[in-house]
Amino acid sequence: MSAARPLAVYVHIPFCVRVCGYCDFNTYAGMDAVKDAYTAAVVAEIEAWAPRIAGREVTSVSFGGGTPGEMAAGSLVAIIDAVRAAAALAPAAEISLEANPGTTSAPALRDLARAGVNRISFGAQSFDASELAFLDRVHTPEATSASLHLAREAGIRSVNLDLMYGLPDQTPAAWQATLGRALDLAPEHLSLYALTVEPGTPLDGRVERGEVAPLDPDAVAAMYEDAAERLAASGYRQYELSNWARPGHESRHNLVYWTWGDYLGIGAGAHGFLDGERFENVAHPRAYIDAVRHDGRAIAEAVRPDAATSMSDWLALRLRLVEGFNAAAFATTFGESLEAAAGPPLDACRAAGILEDSGGRLRLTPRGRLLHNEVAVQVMLHLQERAEESPSVTRGGASGVA
Ligand code: SF4
Repeated sequence: MSAARPLAVYVHIPFCVRVCGYCDFNTYAGMDAVKDAYTAAVVAEIEAWAPRIAGREVTSVSFGGGTPGEMAAGSLVAIIDAVRAAAALAPAAEISLEANPGTTSAPALRDLARAGVNRISFGAQSFDASELAFLDRVHTPEATSASLHLAREAGIRSVNLDLMYGLPDQTPAAWQATLGRALDLAPEHLSLYALTVEPGTPLDGRVERGEVAPLDPDAVAAMYEDAAERLAASGYRQYELSNWARPGHESRHNLVYWTWGDYLGIGAGAHGFLDGERFENVAHPRAYIDAVRHDGRAIAEAVRPDAATSMSDWLALRLRLVEGFNAAAFATTFGESLEAAAGPPLDACRAAGILEDSGGRLRLTPRGRLLHNEVAVQVMLHLQERAEESPSVTRGGASGVA
């Protein structure tokens, strides 16, 4: 089954110049001294996976973090070369990199483009200097424009800007101004994220102490809907809850996640999903380096999800796609019809105007896009209850991937 299936490779780079107050990613500041050892460990981990992935076609390599752009270009090129040596990197593979505006030089971008990097995502977040200061970002609005132009000059064909909305005190006009500045730069792709207060972050502490008041959820929802309208009018197609693209510039790597495809997770704290098994690496960079030196790999946990978990994961991911999914794909994957597995919660969401059937596909309605989590939770609870009531129905795993 697996030999014919394409593979995506995610490489986690867990370093940032400083850690932003709202961030709960697996990332660390002040660890420049271990970067070379980390690169060597990532290359060694890829080599350790080689026997398992030999013959698989790698359709995308994605450097995420953290801030991959903080690594020396030569280190990233060495990692790309290691993937090429371990598996068949498709000639048209998408090779992407996350970077902070203002931190990637023209020579580094040219080296990366020569090594095959054809997509870059800048964490722009805002074009308002006071909002960037609130977010602890190290760059200026001007740095985003300059970095985007450098990426274009280097020949990188797809540029994404990440933007954040729903910041405390952010007005609709301020959000529109940021959107306008982003659209003026004509990126090929835009990712819009609502600020979320993650437990345990410095921002969470500020909210607890009453120093910061989160924006009203209705105001945040209105910002999302206004942005969706404006981006559609500007020629961007929304293809996922948080993602808009010019035709042909959708993130092929992320589409692997949303369609339940196989991906290898390389690096500290990285997650992978291969042949129905989920992996998670040890999180701290030093522990990761030590584990790879010792064992070749650094897997902290490997689980094969049961059928109920797989079904709810599959549905939650597919419903992130604006086009939704064909029920036949679910049946092909799990050997059971969608209606038999999850009919009651899906029918309730249809009745509430959150889900709709369109052109043979089931998808969220525009209003339902704001309620994806609620749908996913209802489906998950139903599938878990069903599994507890009749374990034999859902004991088996997935039969394949459609
Ligand atoms: S730059 Fe990104 S990954 Fe790094 S701390 Fe800030 S939000 Fe987190």
